[in-house]
Amino acid sequence: MELPFAESWKIKMVEPIRKSTREERERWMKEAHYNVFQLKAEQVYIDCITDSGTGSMSDRQWAAMMMGDESYAGASSFFRLKDTITRLTGFNYVIPTHQGRAAENVLFSHLVKAGDIVPGNSHFDTTKGHIESRKAVALDCTIDEAKDTQLEIPFKGNVDPKKLEKALAEHADKIPFIIVTITNNTAGGQPVSMQNLREVRAIADKYNKRVVFDSARFAENAYFIKTREEGYANKTIKEITKEMFALADGMTMSAKKDGIVNMGGFIATRWEDWYEGAKRFCIPFEGYLTYGGMNGRDMDALAVGLDENTEFDNLETRIKQVEYLAKRLDEFGIPYQRPAGGHAIFVDAAKILTHVPKEQFPAQTLTVELYLEAGIRGCEIGYILADRDPVTRENRFGGLDLLRLAIPRRVYTNNHMDVIAVALKNVYDRREQITKGVKIVWEAELMRHFTVQLEPVK
Ligand SMILES: *Cc1c(COP(=O)(O)O)cnc(C)c1O
Repeated sequence: MELPFAESWKIKMVEPIRKSTREERERWMKEAHYNVFQLKAEQVYIDCITDSGTGSMSDRQWAAMMMGDESYAGASSFFRLKDTITRLTGFNYVIPTHQGRAAENVLFSHLVKAGDIVPGNSHFDTTKGHIESRKAVALDCTIDEAKDTQLEIPFKGNVDPKKLEKALAEHADKIPFIIVTITNNTAGGQPVSMQNLREVRAIADKYNKRVVFDSARFAENAYFIKTREEGYANKTIKEITKEMFALADGMTMSAKKDGIVNMGGFIATRWEDWYEGAKRFCIPFEGYLTYGGMNGRDMDALAVGLDENTEFDNLETRIKQVEYLAKRLDEFGIPYQRPAGGHAIFVDAAKILTHVPKEQFPAQTLTVELYLEAGIRGCEIGYILADRDPVTRENRFGGLDLLRLAIPRRVYTNNHMDVIAVALKNVYDRREQITKGVKIVWEAELMRHFTVQLEPVK
């Protein structure tokens, strides 16, 4: 008999979590203005709000922290991190930042100006925010297939080369660079193929443009290339990583994802002029160049995390857990973005809460219902997250309306996945009775989903 699959680690330290009653949850949800970001973590039983900064560090990462060099300038921790990044990506210039959006802020302060257009594949919300706040346009060139949640194709995060080429043909002078998000978070944690990265490179070269990878989940992307793309089955994750980044000019990184640290990020590039330009913004925004918002000990933990998470076994354990949850949802017929992405299941709320009008935010309504059902915290990746159109100030209902269940790395067991699946099934079974959603009482102008205040529609 073939041996079953099991985790590539064992547990050395545990953190107790607590269940609550439905009554408690109803009170807490109201106090939180029906926005799960405003719940206290202790009011949550299983937390799938994000996989960002929520992973468990390994014993080797904790050990590395003890070697942290907290020197203000020239800390050896920085050089250990830089050498690891250079070894993995081929990029020689590295600027640490306190997280991914800070990397965007520093790099885009140098590169993006009013009137620019930055084409890419479903820019992440902070990426879009940093482009739009500079009065530039984030032009989405994702393949149309990404919008059809039920279509199973291996690389649903891809850039549509025709859309990209059209953007460049029409607006080349306004385009400072192309950005490719690996994996494509907003489209459901969907990977981008090596073939597609090559096509983007070819178009960029034709128009003499540079390419940035928004690399938060580059290792998961490499795993999908290895397991789904022809010609990569026998390559290591590290070889694939190197090959991916050879097709880019630079990267912004949220180390809270595939770096498996709780806080951190960086910019890396092969170009001295980008480094020199970004440097000027690192110092006022983040700090001196050899720490840029990170502790020495955290840079050491990140160096080890990047190395560990570019090993196949670690990635396989993670991706298989996400797949496991997907299989449980399949048993219950619950629709989600197919195939399952790398870091999360994106439940298709618009297909479930069909009686809730889009103006009443079906995915947010489902997020609230799942919390009330079992204390499970997911998050809306839908119409609220999409913010208003910067020009018309109308809600943007053009995209998908999803409930994201993000799975933290190395944190929960498959028993927790079972609880999530059954809780969602219970909500799914009473979907016909859910006819009213939520309305906005207060919202911020940009990135409103974090602080939006809502009320149930009566
Ligand atoms: C998380 C993320 C970011 C922003 O990083 P933070 O560390 O949260 O600031 C940018 N792009 C993508 C694709 C992300 O997933």
